[in-house]
Amino acid sequence: MKKISLFLLLLIPAIAFAQRDWSAMKITTTEVGPGVYRLFVGESVSTVLFVGEDGVMLIDAAYEQTAPQLKAAIEAITSHPVKYLVNTHHHGDHVGGNYNMGKDATIIAHHFVKDFVSREQRAGERVTPALPKEARPDISFSDELKFDFNGQVLQMLHLPKGHTGGDIIIYFPESKVLKMGDLLFADNFPFVDVNNGGDPMGYVRNQQFILENYPEDLTIVGGHGPVYTMAQLREYNKTLVQTLEVVRKAKEAGMTAEQMKANRILKEWEEWGKFFITEDRWIDTLFPVF
Ligand SMILES: [Zn+2]
Repeated sequence: MKKISLFLLLLIPAIAFAQRDWSAMKITTTEVGPGVYRLFVGESVSTVLFVGEDGVMLIDAAYEQTAPQLKAAIEAITSHPVKYLVNTHHHGDHVGGNYNMGKDATIIAHHFVKDFVSREQRAGERVTPALPKEARPDISFSDELKFDFNGQVLQMLHLPKGHTGGDIIIYFPESKVLKMGDLLFADNFPFVDVNNGGDPMGYVRNQQFILENYPEDLTIVGGHGPVYTMAQLREYNKTLVQTLEVVRKAKEAGMTAEQMKANRILKEWEEWGKFFITEDRWIDTLFPVF
């Protein structure tokens, strides 16, 4: 049974999006800071474009299937090609477009991402081939990369054991924008990829690290959901901690995960369970932690 649920968990992104009409997925463009644009792909995943005198940087490439729209949305902002493509982590809705968006660009990511996408992945009977060489990171790093580009020193920082084992955040100090990747599922329970280095406690701690170490006046672009202020991130983090506490106490009181689901112990946050991670899946994520 455990094997089956693990297999299903890995398959869920594929199932959830299998029925999609990819060509109908629109891109919504918003300038979130000077030279920094959020490209919201199909109201699902957020990528970021940074445009200036040195050229164009794209952060995350969304799905393989949405590359044509994403290209068109970029061309509506700039006539210059993407010079650098940065991946916040290895998931398909962030690296899927790497080949189309990044084959002529220099691709940058954490070591974990480079290793992951360079190898064939097996989950049960499902085999995901390695990305083509042109779609893999050219440059990878372990802890931090400072990148002088378009008049500001960008900080690319690895926050370990969060959503995955290879998450990085990208800070634009002059534009006052922070790109968080899937270390933020704004307004929703997060997906934590515990099979690939993610950890719910680390997820919470990484957000707290950001709240303690970055200025208050930032615009935050998560991987999914709406753009946040720091105040909203603080509220989000508090709520996550509350849900952790509810599950921890229920387990301490002797409840099984199935009983927690049947009793809807996270009902108070049911709005958060409507996108991707349901109340039940969030219970399954947290249950083994305590
Ligand atoms: Zn992800």
